[in-house]
Amino acid sequence: QKFNIAIDGPAGAGKSTVARLTAKRLNFQYIDTGAMYRAVTWEVLRRQIPMDDEQRIAEIAAEMDFSLETTASGTKIYVNGRDVTEEIRSEAVTSHVSAVAQLPSVRDVLVAKQQKMAAAGGVVMDGRDIGTKVLPEAEVKVLLTASIEERAKRRLHEMRAKGIQTDLERLKREIAARDKIDSERSVSPLRKAKDAVTVDTTGMTIEQVVENILDLSRT
Ligand code: C5P
Repeated sequence: QKFNIAIDGPAGAGKSTVARLTAKRLNFQYIDTGAMYRAVTWEVLRRQIPMDDEQRIAEIAAEMDFSLETTASGTKIYVNGRDVTEEIRSEAVTSHVSAVAQLPSVRDVLVAKQQKMAAAGGVVMDGRDIGTKVLPEAEVKVLLTASIEERAKRRLHEMRAKGIQTDLERLKREIAARDKIDSERSVSPLRKAKDAVTVDTTGMTIEQVVENILDLSRT
């Protein structure tokens, strides 16, 4: 009954919404690992630590205590008791997070924390390396994809809803750039786990994707 679900995929494939709703349906805990890399990046920027000071950044990551709380409107992330939900979505964090996520010792620290969080089962975890590295034994593994066009459109809607003006072409370029870094980096690139099921969400509703994953969980 208490199995784990690993959901991997590129930026904007709908992972966080799908993972949160899947967790809700199963009464599981949702863990957003991207938010953890973002929180470390936010702290590094705040303390003005050079992005290549791997040892210091790993120490900072080790000292951070993460907790995630799912509410009706979304997921809140707390670091050492402080709510950083808004801060970690800033442009500065988004443009530096890939650099931080490339540091092997930072990944080691966060992966160990993520494994601990999932040790008792009953977790839906999303990221880039969950099925391959963090939870290789997860009972259900999904690789969520969608076309760049679709992913950029979704992000555009999200940003418009928040009152932020931007344009589609710019978002497409940003998403393509982050894909390139995340898939070509030497440490834990985004890869399909051998036993993962690919779900292309282009043209699917969120509800259809969630149902798809729930079906996989029943078999
Ligand atoms: O999922 P999200 O876009 O918030 O992730 C932010 C960044 O964190 C990604 O672009 C990627 O570089 C990194 N990340 C990672 N491994 C994970 C989750 C996120 O490297 N498991």
